[in-house]
Amino acid sequence: MKNKGVMKMTDALKIDIDKIRVEHIGKKLKVHGKATRIGTHYLEFKTAAFQCMRCGHITKVEQDQDQVLLQEPIGGCENDICGKKGPFKVLPKESELLNVQDISILEIPENPKNGQIIKSLQGRLYGDIICVAQENEIWDFIGELTFSDMGKKRHEFFLKITELGDKYSNR
Ligand SMILES: [Zn+2]
Repeated sequence: MKNKGVMKMTDALKIDIDKIRVEHIGKKLKVHGKATRIGTHYLEFKTAAFQCMRCGHITKVEQDQDQVLLQEPIGGCENDICGKKGPFKVLPKESELLNVQDISILEIPENPKNGQIIKSLQGRLYGDIICVAQENEIWDFIGELTFSDMGKKRHEFFLKITELGDKYSNR
């Protein structure tokens, strides 16, 4: 069995945006590109704490980051003598919250040809690395490749960026 310890930057596969394929989903990638369309920063629930309005018990629910709505306790309040399906109140201080920021990464072609479409990769920055990269700066973005639902049975590649690598001077 392979050692699944803490992954270091060197474990990331360096790849160009136009070479990304479905085979890379779930892998840690290092993507070189230009930061663009950097959004405002916001928060994401990793775990949400729901307080039962009937008995006061707190039930924590790990959130699926691909779901649009906050997921309430499926089995209702976890207090054995209650078990009601709510109503619940979300307690931010008891929840586990993540700082996040959306970003697009633009590829930087070695030898750009006339009329060539510049490819981009959607991403989200997590934790301390939000608000570090600025618009049009060139960085190595490191994180796990996943995908998000665009609707109409199409999914787009999506990089969950948890590390920033080297910063490059603009060309
Ligand atoms: Zn309850």
